[in-house]
Formats: sequence, C-alpha cells, structure tokens
Amino acid sequence: MIRFALICDNGHEFESWFASNDSFDFQIENKLVACPHCNGTEVAKAVMAPAVARAGGGPGEPAAPAKSPKQNVALLGEGDRELRTMVRELHAKIVAATVDVGAEFPREARRIHDGAAPERPIRGQASLEEARSLLEDGVSILPMPTPPEDRG
Ligand SMILES: [Zn+2]
Repeated sequence: MIRFALICDNGHEFESWFASNDSFDFQIENKLVACPHCNGTEVAKAVMAPAVARAGGGPGEPAAPAKSPKQNVALLGEGDRELRTMVRELHAKIVAATVDVGAEFPREARRIHDGAAPERPIRGQASLEEARSLLEDGVSILPMPTPPEDRG
C-alpha cells in the first residue's frame, strides 16, 4: 500500500491509500477518487516530498533559510541515459544510507533535530506543509531524487 497526499481542484488536501502507483493512476484517470470535503473528482497528487534529514545542525550552525516550496525538476529525453543512471544511483545511495521512517518522517526529523532521538540519516514522506515547517524550524531536509522509472 502507498499513501498519497492529494489535493482537489478546490484546494482541499487529504490523504488516501492505494495498492500501487498504477492503481493510483487508474483511479485518478477514471475519477474514482473523490475529495472527502467537496466530493470533487478533479484530484491530483499533492507534493509529498520524500526528504532526508541531515545529521548535525547543532546550535553553531545557521538555520537553513526558508526555501521556496517549488522543487527542482528536470526533463530528460530518452537519450539521457547517463543522467538517468546518475539519478538512479544517487537515489540508491540515499536509500542505502538512510533508514526509512515513512510517514513518521516529520516527527522523527524534528526529534533528531531537538536531540530527543539519536542522530542518524532518515528518509520518509512529508507533506509540503510539513516540509516547509521543518525548514522554517531549521531542520535540514532535502528532497529526494525520484528514479525515472518510479514516476507516475
Ligand atoms: Zn475538495
């Protein structure tokens, strides 16, 4: 099961579980997903940036500036195999070096930042609001690259 943060065309944010990416695509395309607030079926994936908390970030370090919620994106042509490979490798390296805490990410990242949990690299999911809030509080998180194959 995969949980997606969704947003309807009226701007209502909600979350829903799907069996897979394909199942999500199918249900969205066939307008089978309705907003629980307004019943609207114009629903899209809200930004659910998997993020990495960096170890460190002690008091001596300046707080990360509040960043624009916009994410860096790249459009790769079919010929850009080297780039695709690099993104895949980078993704694999992050996965290998971090512990997946899933939806607990925002809470766990904050606990690590506050010294309430042992320092370690973690990854997981955060909504745009959660990611913004963490950044505003000086928690250094990074959006994870998405391997080309995983794009919906
Ligand atoms: Zn709605």
